Amino acid sequence: MKKPFITLEQAKQIIAEHPTPFHIYDEKGMRENARLVNKAFAWNKGFKEYFAVKATPTPGILQVLKEEGCGADCSSFTELMIAEMVDFKGHDIMFSSNMTPAEDFVKAAEMGAIINFDDFTHIEFFSKLVEIPETVCCRYNPGGMFQVANDIMDNPGDSKYGMTKEQMKEGFRILKEKGAKHFGIHSFLASSTRTNTYYPMLAKILFELAVELKEELDIHIAFINLSGGVGIPYHPEEEACDIMEIGAGVQKVYEEIFAPKGMEDVAIYTEMGRYMMAPYGSLIATAIHEKHIYKEYIGLDACAANLMRPAMYQAYHHVTVLGKEEAVCDHTYDVAGGLCENNDKFAIDRQLPKIDMGDIVYIHDTGAHGHAMGYNYNGKLRSAELLLQEDGGITVMRRAETPEDYLATLDCTPFYKK
Ligand SMILES: *Cc1c(COP(=O)(O)O)cnc(C)c1O
Repeated sequence: MKKPFITLEQAKQIIAEHPTPFHIYDEKGMRENARLVNKAFAWNKGFKEYFAVKATPTPGILQVLKEEGCGADCSSFTELMIAEMVDFKGHDIMFSSNMTPAEDFVKAAEMGAIINFDDFTHIEFFSKLVEIPETVCCRYNPGGMFQVANDIMDNPGDSKYGMTKEQMKEGFRILKEKGAKHFGIHSFLASSTRTNTYYPMLAKILFELAVELKEELDIHIAFINLSGGVGIPYHPEEEACDIMEIGAGVQKVYEEIFAPKGMEDVAIYTEMGRYMMAPYGSLIATAIHEKHIYKEYIGLDACAANLMRPAMYQAYHHVTVLGKEEAVCDHTYDVAGGLCENNDKFAIDRQLPKIDMGDIVYIHDTGAHGHAMGYNYNGKLRSAELLLQEDGGITVMRRAETPEDYLATLDCTPFYKK
């Protein structure tokens, strides 16, 4: 059973001041989860979770995670600016970007971020702009298929990210020549995993590579960045990952590979987005229409512009009708938004209780890659983002867009008058 983190009564009070649709985040849940992540890796002295800013690029969220000891993983100029708004600086920022524009590299370097090079040619590109820092990172792509037992988890050979092993060696060699002293290795091989073995398996690949690079190039390996990819159970029948077991799995590989080599000063970094935030956000909408044609439809005041994952990836997001948590699910609905796109459906053939107009619909697990992926198709406006504080109060972290915001980038001098 998936349980909403607000009740119907709470929702009604919030809606009286902040009309639907909006995303709301659960501060208490976020903090507890972040503490557990830190506990799972507490065996590693230098451990740091660099929250993937792209998942929820909202300063109010970053502030809470920062207070729990997280850093920020940025991939663009504006994400760096957002990190700057909550005073992240220096090595609290990981800059993991790809196809990076020059100005983004310059901004990241100015902020003292750890630069994670996606390609070895980026080193030359970067060093023409700014000096190579002492601490640097390169992103590895082992190619081929990435498998856990017989299950293919992902296909790195088909992904645009990272460098081959030969390029990693060449990259580190060039970086060393240019004055780098401390090296990190990063890799992201599978997304939305729901096994406790993904990080440990990735760790084994990266730890072995670290030993090889250290011995061949005589360099100091300072950290291994396991990046993101730890999933959450979007579906009520899916099982959650056990972060304590994941941490212990990485520790075991660490002791096997690094201990005999005297490399126990290597820090472990992660860049989780989804695992840190997805369960602690939800999209709140009101049922405003019902129609009966060849199927039963419920129309919400939210649409795919507020949450793109179902339309884009056919992703499952659980739906709860607030106040009807215990009611029998004896109706089959398509729950739709108002875009002129037939894929604008939050749920298809979903068994739900009878929905009445005005019912408040709670769409689960929108805390990562939810509001962040919002867009303005059909002139739809992005919603507000609210924080449900630990003390039950509400903070507006981001107000809802207005038509004026949407129109602000237009040149209003019509071409025919020029
Ligand atoms: C998207 C991304 C992440 C976060 O991924 P999640 O699946 O949300 O954990 C981390 N690092 C990089 C470089 C990414 O692109």
